[in-house]
Amino acid sequence: MAHGSVLEDERRPGGKVERALTVFLTGAECPFTCSFCDLWQWTLDGPTPPGALTRQLESVLEARDGQARDGQTPDRLKLYNASNFFDQRAVPSEDVLGIAKLAAPFAAITVESHANTIGAKTLEFARQIPGQLEVAVGLETIHPAAAAQLNKRLDLARFDTAARFLSDNGIDLRVFVLLGAPYVPVDETVGWTVRAVEYAVERGASVVSIIPVRGGNGEMERLQGLGHFTPPTLLQLEESLDLSLQFTKAVVTADLWDVDRLPACEHCRAERVERLRRVNVSGRSESRVSCGSCGAE
Ligand code: SF4
Ligand SMILES: [Zn+2]
Repeated sequence: MAHGSVLEDERRPGGKVERALTVFLTGAECPFTCSFCDLWQWTLDGPTPPGALTRQLESVLEARDGQARDGQTPDRLKLYNASNFFDQRAVPSEDVLGIAKLAAPFAAITVESHANTIGAKTLEFARQIPGQLEVAVGLETIHPAAAAQLNKRLDLARFDTAARFLSDNGIDLRVFVLLGAPYVPVDETVGWTVRAVEYAVERGASVVSIIPVRGGNGEMERLQGLGHFTPPTLLQLEESLDLSLQFTKAVVTADLWDVDRLPACEHCRAERVERLRRVNVSGRSESRVSCGSCGAE
Protein backbone atom coordinates (compact mmCIF):
# COMPACT_ATOMS: atom_id res chain seq x y z
CA MET A 1 0.00 0.00 0.00
CA ALA A 2 1.11 3.56 -0.66
CA HIS A 3 1.73 5.09 2.74
CA GLY A 4 0.11 8.41 2.01
CA SER A 5 -0.54 11.20 -0.40
CA VAL A 6 -0.81 14.94 -0.07
CA LEU A 7 -2.14 17.67 -2.33
CA GLU A 8 -0.58 21.10 -1.98
CA ASP A 9 0.21 24.32 -3.78
CA GLU A 10 3.78 24.80 -4.96
CA ARG A 11 5.45 27.75 -6.59
CA ARG A 12 7.63 27.24 -9.66
CA PRO A 13 10.38 29.50 -11.02
CA GLY A 14 8.61 32.30 -12.85
CA GLY A 15 5.91 32.51 -10.21
CA LYS A 16 3.31 30.03 -11.40
CA VAL A 17 1.64 28.22 -8.50
CA GLU A 18 0.90 24.57 -9.26
CA ARG A 19 -1.31 21.99 -7.59
CA ALA A 20 1.01 19.11 -6.77
CA LEU A 21 -0.05 15.64 -5.69
CA THR A 22 2.67 13.77 -3.80
CA VAL A 23 2.27 10.02 -3.48
CA PHE A 24 4.47 8.12 -1.04
CA LEU A 25 5.05 4.66 -2.48
CA THR A 26 6.26 1.63 -0.55
CA GLY A 27 9.01 -0.39 -2.22
CA ALA A 28 12.51 -1.77 -1.73
CA GLU A 29 14.83 -0.08 0.72
CA CYS A 30 17.46 2.29 -0.68
CA PRO A 31 20.90 0.65 -0.99
CA PHE A 32 22.63 3.78 0.31
CA THR A 33 22.76 4.12 4.05
CA CYS A 34 22.96 7.83 4.76
CA SER A 35 23.40 8.41 8.46
CA PHE A 36 20.55 10.92 8.73
CA CYS A 37 18.00 8.96 6.68
CA ASP A 38 14.85 7.62 8.31
CA LEU A 39 13.07 6.58 5.14
CA TRP A 40 13.76 2.84 5.60
CA GLN A 41 10.75 2.70 7.91
CA TRP A 42 8.59 3.12 4.78
CA THR A 43 10.25 0.35 2.79
CA LEU A 44 9.99 -3.41 2.26
CA ASP A 45 12.56 -6.11 2.92
CA GLY A 46 13.83 -7.38 -0.43
CA PRO A 47 13.19 -6.04 -3.93
CA THR A 48 9.89 -4.38 -4.80
CA PRO A 49 7.49 -7.07 -6.12
CA PRO A 50 6.75 -6.31 -9.81
CA GLY A 51 3.39 -4.58 -10.21
CA ALA A 52 3.20 -3.37 -6.60
CA LEU A 53 4.02 0.28 -7.26
CA THR A 54 1.64 0.51 -10.21
CA ARG A 55 -1.16 -0.86 -8.04
CA GLN A 56 -0.30 1.54 -5.22
CA LEU A 57 -0.39 4.54 -7.52
CA GLU A 58 -3.55 3.32 -9.22
CA SER A 59 -5.40 3.03 -5.92
CA VAL A 60 -4.30 6.50 -4.75
CA LEU A 61 -5.40 8.07 -8.06
CA GLU A 62 -8.73 6.20 -8.01
CA ALA A 63 -9.45 7.26 -4.42
CA ARG A 64 -8.56 10.83 -5.32
CA ASP A 65 -10.84 10.83 -8.34
CA GLY A 66 -13.64 9.70 -6.05
CA GLN A 67 -12.99 12.60 -3.67
CA ALA A 68 -12.03 15.37 -6.09
CA ARG A 69 -14.74 17.99 -6.16
CA ASP A 70 -13.33 20.01 -9.02
CA GLY A 71 -12.59 16.94 -11.19
CA GLN A 72 -9.31 18.54 -12.23
CA THR A 73 -6.04 16.68 -12.53
CA PRO A 74 -3.35 18.38 -10.41
CA ASP A 75 -0.54 19.95 -12.45
CA ARG A 76 2.23 17.83 -10.96
CA LEU A 77 2.56 14.25 -9.71
CA LYS A 78 5.40 13.67 -7.28
CA LEU A 79 6.33 10.06 -6.65
CA TYR A 80 8.47 9.48 -3.61
CA ASN A 81 9.47 5.86 -3.11
CA ALA A 82 11.98 6.35 -0.26
CA SER A 83 14.66 5.08 -2.63
CA ASN A 84 15.84 5.63 -6.20
CA PHE A 85 13.31 5.61 -9.00
CA PHE A 86 15.86 4.48 -11.60
CA ASP A 87 17.07 1.52 -9.57
CA GLN A 88 15.53 -1.65 -11.04
CA ARG A 89 15.38 -3.28 -7.59
CA ALA A 90 13.27 -0.37 -6.30
CA VAL A 91 11.15 0.21 -9.40
CA PRO A 92 10.94 -2.87 -11.69
CA SER A 93 10.78 -2.04 -15.42
CA GLU A 94 7.16 -3.09 -15.76
CA ASP A 95 6.26 -0.57 -13.07
CA VAL A 96 8.14 2.17 -14.89
CA LEU A 97 5.81 1.48 -17.81
CA GLY A 98 2.71 1.16 -15.63
CA ILE A 99 3.55 4.38 -13.79
CA ALA A 100 4.23 6.21 -17.05
CA LYS A 101 0.73 5.29 -18.25
CA LEU A 102 -0.91 6.42 -15.02
CA ALA A 103 1.12 9.62 -15.03
CA ALA A 104 0.07 10.55 -18.57
CA PRO A 105 -2.62 13.10 -17.56
CA PHE A 106 -0.17 15.14 -15.46
CA ALA A 107 1.72 18.05 -17.02
CA ALA A 108 4.76 17.38 -14.84
CA ILE A 109 6.17 14.42 -12.90
CA THR A 110 8.76 14.44 -10.14
CA VAL A 111 10.63 11.32 -9.05
CA GLU A 112 13.56 10.97 -6.68
CA SER A 113 16.99 9.51 -7.30
CA HIS A 114 20.48 9.46 -5.90
CA ALA A 115 22.79 11.31 -8.31
CA ASN A 116 24.56 7.98 -9.01
CA THR A 117 21.45 6.33 -10.47
CA ILE A 118 20.66 9.09 -12.97
CA GLY A 119 21.43 8.00 -16.53
CA ALA A 120 19.97 6.09 -19.47
CA LYS A 121 16.90 4.95 -17.52
CA THR A 122 16.14 8.56 -16.67
CA LEU A 123 16.04 9.46 -20.36
CA GLU A 124 13.93 6.42 -21.13
CA PHE A 125 11.34 7.42 -18.52
CA ALA A 126 11.37 11.04 -19.73
CA ARG A 127 10.45 9.75 -23.20
CA GLN A 128 7.69 7.52 -21.82
CA ILE A 129 5.74 10.33 -20.17
CA PRO A 130 4.04 13.14 -22.05
CA GLY A 131 4.69 15.56 -19.16
CA GLN A 132 7.87 17.33 -18.11
CA LEU A 133 10.17 15.19 -15.95
CA GLU A 134 11.85 16.53 -12.83
CA VAL A 135 14.30 14.50 -10.76
CA ALA A 136 14.74 15.24 -7.06
CA VAL A 137 18.30 14.68 -5.86
CA GLY A 138 19.76 14.94 -2.35
CA LEU A 139 22.78 17.25 -2.27
CA GLU A 140 22.46 17.39 1.53
CA THR A 141 25.52 19.46 2.47
CA ILE A 142 28.60 20.90 0.80
CA HIS A 143 30.53 21.14 4.08
CA PRO A 144 33.50 18.92 3.08
CA ALA A 145 34.04 17.13 6.39
CA ALA A 146 30.34 16.68 7.07
CA ALA A 147 29.64 15.44 3.52
CA ALA A 148 32.36 12.81 3.93
CA GLN A 149 30.69 11.57 7.13
CA LEU A 150 27.17 11.21 5.73
CA ASN A 151 27.84 7.80 4.24
CA LYS A 152 26.03 8.92 1.11
CA ARG A 153 28.81 8.06 -1.34
CA LEU A 154 28.23 11.30 -3.24
CA ASP A 155 30.93 13.75 -4.15
CA LEU A 156 30.25 17.17 -5.57
CA ALA A 157 31.73 16.24 -8.95
CA ARG A 158 29.17 13.41 -9.25
CA PHE A 159 26.36 15.78 -8.29
CA ASP A 160 27.56 18.29 -10.89
CA THR A 161 27.67 15.62 -13.60
CA ALA A 162 24.12 14.50 -12.78
CA ALA A 163 22.89 18.12 -12.77
CA ARG A 164 24.51 18.76 -16.15
CA PHE A 165 23.11 15.53 -17.60
CA LEU A 166 19.59 16.51 -16.55
CA SER A 167 19.89 20.02 -17.89
CA ASP A 168 21.43 18.88 -21.20
CA ASN A 169 18.43 16.62 -21.65
CA GLY A 170 15.78 19.16 -20.74
CA ILE A 171 14.92 17.48 -17.44
CA ASP A 172 14.27 19.64 -14.37
CA LEU A 173 16.27 19.30 -11.18
CA ARG A 174 14.89 19.57 -7.65
CA VAL A 175 17.41 19.44 -4.82
CA PHE A 176 17.19 18.50 -1.17
CA VAL A 177 19.54 20.33 1.19
CA LEU A 178 19.87 19.52 4.88
CA LEU A 179 19.61 21.87 7.80
CA GLY A 180 21.52 20.52 10.78
CA ALA A 181 23.69 17.96 9.01
CA PRO A 182 25.82 16.09 11.55
CA TYR A 183 29.43 17.28 11.88
CA VAL A 184 28.58 20.83 10.77
CA PRO A 185 29.41 23.09 13.75
CA VAL A 186 26.14 24.32 15.23
CA ASP A 187 26.96 28.02 14.87
CA GLU A 188 27.72 27.46 11.17
CA THR A 189 24.72 25.32 10.38
CA VAL A 190 22.57 28.04 8.80
CA GLY A 191 25.54 29.38 6.81
CA TRP A 192 26.36 25.97 5.33
CA THR A 193 22.73 25.30 4.49
CA VAL A 194 22.47 28.59 2.60
CA ARG A 195 25.74 27.84 0.80
CA ALA A 196 24.41 24.45 -0.30
CA VAL A 197 21.21 26.11 -1.56
CA GLU A 198 23.31 28.56 -3.57
CA TYR A 199 25.41 25.69 -4.95
CA ALA A 200 22.28 23.87 -6.13
CA VAL A 201 20.79 27.01 -7.69
CA GLU A 202 24.04 27.69 -9.55
CA ARG A 203 23.85 24.19 -11.01
CA GLY A 204 20.41 24.78 -12.42
CA ALA A 205 18.01 23.54 -9.73
CA SER A 206 14.44 24.72 -10.30
CA VAL A 207 13.42 23.99 -6.74
CA VAL A 208 15.50 23.56 -3.60
CA SER A 209 13.91 22.20 -0.49
CA ILE A 210 15.56 22.74 2.90
CA ILE A 211 15.04 19.68 5.06
CA PRO A 212 15.70 19.83 8.79
CA VAL A 213 17.44 16.65 9.94
CA ARG A 214 15.11 14.65 12.13
CA GLY A 215 16.24 12.48 14.97
CA GLY A 216 14.60 9.13 15.59
CA ASN A 217 16.62 6.68 13.51
CA GLY A 218 18.98 5.80 16.35
CA GLU A 219 22.11 6.90 14.51
CA MET A 220 21.30 10.59 15.00
CA GLU A 221 20.83 9.99 18.73
CA ARG A 222 24.20 8.23 18.84
CA LEU A 223 25.88 11.15 17.04
CA GLN A 224 24.12 13.60 19.32
CA GLY A 225 25.52 11.74 22.33
CA LEU A 226 29.00 12.14 20.86
CA GLY A 227 28.44 15.86 20.30
CA HIS A 228 28.41 15.57 16.48
CA PHE A 229 24.74 16.37 15.97
CA THR A 230 22.51 19.10 17.35
CA PRO A 231 18.86 18.94 16.29
CA PRO A 232 18.06 21.99 14.13
CA THR A 233 15.50 24.47 15.42
CA LEU A 234 12.51 26.22 13.88
CA LEU A 235 14.35 29.55 14.14
CA GLN A 236 17.26 28.15 12.13
CA LEU A 237 14.83 26.93 9.48
CA GLU A 238 13.31 30.42 9.24
CA GLU A 239 16.72 32.00 9.00
CA SER A 240 17.88 29.57 6.30
CA LEU A 241 14.80 30.16 4.19
CA ASP A 242 14.88 33.95 4.63
CA LEU A 243 18.53 34.09 3.57
CA SER A 244 17.88 31.77 0.61
CA LEU A 245 15.17 33.98 -0.89
CA GLN A 246 17.99 36.01 -2.47
CA PHE A 247 18.54 33.15 -4.97
CA THR A 248 15.71 34.15 -7.24
CA LYS A 249 16.52 31.85 -10.16
CA ALA A 250 15.04 28.94 -8.20
CA VAL A 251 12.19 28.38 -5.80
CA VAL A 252 13.55 27.69 -2.33
CA THR A 253 11.21 26.25 0.28
CA ALA A 254 11.39 25.03 3.85
CA ASP A 255 10.23 21.45 4.22
CA LEU A 256 7.47 21.48 6.82
CA TRP A 257 6.95 17.74 7.06
CA ASP A 258 7.09 16.93 10.79
CA VAL A 259 7.75 20.59 11.56
CA ASP A 260 6.09 20.20 14.95
CA ARG A 261 9.04 18.10 16.07
CA LEU A 262 11.51 20.98 15.66
CA PRO A 263 12.58 22.60 18.92
CA ALA A 264 10.79 25.99 19.21
CA CYS A 265 9.07 28.33 21.64
CA GLU A 266 5.55 27.07 22.27
CA HIS A 267 4.10 30.59 22.28
CA CYS A 268 5.17 31.60 18.78
CA ARG A 269 5.66 28.21 17.08
CA ALA A 270 2.30 28.10 15.31
CA GLU A 271 2.63 31.65 14.02
CA ARG A 272 6.15 30.96 12.75
CA VAL A 273 5.07 27.80 10.94
CA GLU A 274 2.19 29.69 9.30
CA ARG A 275 4.61 32.37 8.18
CA LEU A 276 6.88 29.71 6.64
CA ARG A 277 3.90 28.17 4.83
CA ARG A 278 3.04 31.56 3.31
CA VAL A 279 6.64 32.32 2.30
CA ASN A 280 6.96 28.85 0.72
CA VAL A 281 4.11 29.63 -1.63
CA SER A 282 4.69 33.36 -2.20
CA GLY A 283 8.50 33.44 -2.27
CA ARG A 284 8.29 36.90 -0.74
CA SER A 285 10.11 37.71 2.44
CA GLU A 286 7.92 38.73 5.35
CA SER A 287 8.87 40.40 8.61
CA ARG A 288 9.71 37.91 11.32
CA VAL A 289 7.30 37.09 14.14
CA SER A 290 8.37 38.86 17.32
CA CYS A 291 7.54 37.05 20.50
CA GLY A 292 7.33 38.56 23.95
CA SER A 293 7.81 35.17 25.52
CA CYS A 294 11.06 33.91 23.95
CA GLY A 295 12.23 37.32 22.75
CA ALA A 296 13.16 35.82 19.36
CA GLU A 297 12.61 37.61 16.10
S1 SF4 B 1 20.12 8.10 -0.77
FE1 SF4 B 1 18.25 9.11 0.00
S2 SF4 B 1 16.80 7.43 0.48
FE2 SF4 B 1 18.87 6.52 0.24
S3 SF4 B 1 19.68 6.38 2.34
FE3 SF4 B 1 20.42 8.32 1.44
S4 SF4 B 1 18.87 9.88 2.03
FE4 SF4 B 1 17.95 7.85 2.39
ZN1 LIG C 1 8.34 32.71 21.23
